[in-house]
Amino acid sequence: MSEVVDPATGEVVGFVPATSIGEVDAAIARADAAFRRWRGVAPGERARVLRRFAAVVDAHLEELARLEVRNSGHTIGNARWEAGNVRDVLDYYAGAPERLTGRQIPVPGGLDVTFHEPLGVVGVIVPWNFPMPIAAWGFAPALAAGNTVVLKPAELTPLTALRLAELAREAGVPDDVFTVLPGAGSVVGERFVTHPAVRKVCFTGSTEVGTRIMAGCAAQVKRLTLELGGKSANLVFADADLERAAATAPYAVFDNAGQDCCARSRILVQRPAYDRFLKLLEPGVRALRVEDPARETAEMGPLISAAQRDRVAGYVDGANVAFAGSRPDGPGFWYAPTVLLADSPADRHWREEIFGPVVSVLPFDDEADAFRLANDTEYGLSGSVWTRDVGRAVRVARAVEAGNLSVNSHSSVRYWTPFGGMKRSGLGRELGPDALHAFTDVKNVFIATEE
Ligand code: NAD
Repeated sequence: MSEVVDPATGEVVGFVPATSIGEVDAAIARADAAFRRWRGVAPGERARVLRRFAAVVDAHLEELARLEVRNSGHTIGNARWEAGNVRDVLDYYAGAPERLTGRQIPVPGGLDVTFHEPLGVVGVIVPWNFPMPIAAWGFAPALAAGNTVVLKPAELTPLTALRLAELAREAGVPDDVFTVLPGAGSVVGERFVTHPAVRKVCFTGSTEVGTRIMAGCAAQVKRLTLELGGKSANLVFADADLERAAATAPYAVFDNAGQDCCARSRILVQRPAYDRFLKLLEPGVRALRVEDPARETAEMGPLISAAQRDRVAGYVDGANVAFAGSRPDGPGFWYAPTVLLADSPADRHWREEIFGPVVSVLPFDDEADAFRLANDTEYGLSGSVWTRDVGRAVRVARAVEAGNLSVNSHSSVRYWTPFGGMKRSGLGRELGPDALHAFTDVKNVFIATEE
């Protein structure tokens, strides 16, 4: 049994069993047997089951959101969005089984057709920062394509995933089609990598663990999607709407207390606008409502753990602090949103993913300088460009090496569009219209028609 803690208070809110290797193997064997049946379920019926699952999630949105507030310290507003995202992703991919068409390719001597065949058991490994959405981005398209799923939530945040598994059963998802196995990464997660019946691993987490998982999967040529770390740039040109750029920048990095792989944690400001941008940024950071995440007014909650808070503090010690916001006193793993001035792109806080409410600011001279600084990182997940010049917006969006760019906004994740990273931020894409292709293999069949 391992303890589950409320990060806003530090209090224990429950205990969750740690699945053993033997139990993982047994669950994978059951999921493998269930695959033979699930892949044979008619596409229209698979679609209906997923729609029912979405409807049951919808009926429990508030309960799921409150559970996430307690287990992860997310603000209630965010947690409601996250539960709603699970429903929406299920609904979206419920439309897929009936549209998973192959191609008919003209060839001499016969008929040639392709099929998108499900892979088998898919292992989904989830981090603690967005327990519900990241789980759904894996399990919804995997199930829609006809795979069965074993899912491991993060050790710190297993409660909503376990509840989603119950809701799936209530919705009529057949036994062993979707199984949640809480436990240690080194036990449950590793077994997904090494077990031959798991045909694909869908991993979201740190670049360090993802790199090891990729090496492990290579031994079996196991399919793999990786969504890893980020150090995304928010590029503010002098011709931008500076008021809006400054008003939105805090939310782009301090949302979820900065524990967001897409956090715009490096702000690059064109030199003529640098001082004014910082002046405009300061009141927004100071006014950010960091408070009990269960309050309707909360804009930022605590960090996930004491260890994470200490790690974040380690980046601020000795750095050049421009200004900071507030944090509640008392128990819980709180850290005030903090703005650092980078002395150079060599600064540790400029280069490394902090995964907390800390943002670094650096000036740049021109477009070429902006590209060079933005791309001077091993990561490539997201980024934002603020400018009123349309040509520049397109040039910059094309030049920044990242999977998800937004112009005059900070959007990264929309379930209708592909999401994922370049460079060491990941491999493959989730969400969007093509996600099912990542959970299927193409089979080509030639049927001779000559007598
Ligand atoms: P982590 O890599 O430590 O853990 C992620 C998951 O992997 C957990 O469930 C953990 O138990 C499991 N795990 C750990 N060791 C394992 C192993 N040897 N084999 C198999 N599984 C193992 O990451 P974290 O601290 O939980 O999450 C934070 C990281 O996730 C950040 O770096 C963040 O950028 C990244 N992230 C990326 C995205 C994205 O979409 N790119 C989204 C969210 C989080």
